[in-house]
Amino acid sequence: LKQFSKNRAVFLDRDGVLDELVYYNDGHVGSSISAKKLVVYSKAAEAVKKIHAAGYEAIVVSNQAGVARKLFSYQEFLKMNEKIKMTLSRKGVHLDAEYYCLHHPRALIKKYKKNCNCRKPKPGLLIRAAKENNLDLKKCFFVGDSLTDVQAGIRAGCKTVLIGQMTDMLNRQMKKHKATPDYMIGGLIQIDEVIGK
Ligand SMILES: [Mg+2]
Ligand SMILES: [Zn+2]
Repeated sequence: LKQFSKNRAVFLDRDGVLDELVYYNDGHVGSSISAKKLVVYSKAAEAVKKIHAAGYEAIVVSNQAGVARKLFSYQEFLKMNEKIKMTLSRKGVHLDAEYYCLHHPRALIKKYKKNCNCRKPKPGLLIRAAKENNLDLKKCFFVGDSLTDVQAGIRAGCKTVLIGQMTDMLNRQMKKHKATPDYMIGGLIQIDEVIGK
């Protein structure tokens, strides 16, 4: 247990929040599958600075089933995280902790094939992060770019922030999944508008 914890954190989904989503040739938009092609948002460091300045820890909470689905190796997964951290550290910023779920119910690699409690929309990773960092989940925010992030945040008792634009489709999905974020912002750089309140 950290002795000097701030007791509150802004949890950050990784892809679509700290690094850009990728447009693939087949038309789908998804997470990066290689460190080389991973692009950290140019304003990510500035955004994390704002989180620290407001008195919150910045903790990554991310599903990364790509290893389990054989889209990339475990080494590549580590390299991608390293690229994000290096890019931030060159601008004088650090992440306070990182939590990843590597499981998938239909994993191609046996050790990751699991109906775990940590894959979002389940709140397992958030609950673990709170225990290990001495956080009060009610004082925490969870920022993500998908409804599963909002669902996990709600289940953990956090305030939720969705990055994106409201559309009819999103509105329908929110109703269907009973998952409405407390806030919507266009990008992580606007996080101070939410946590500053
Ligand atoms: Mg995402
Ligand atoms: Zn998991």
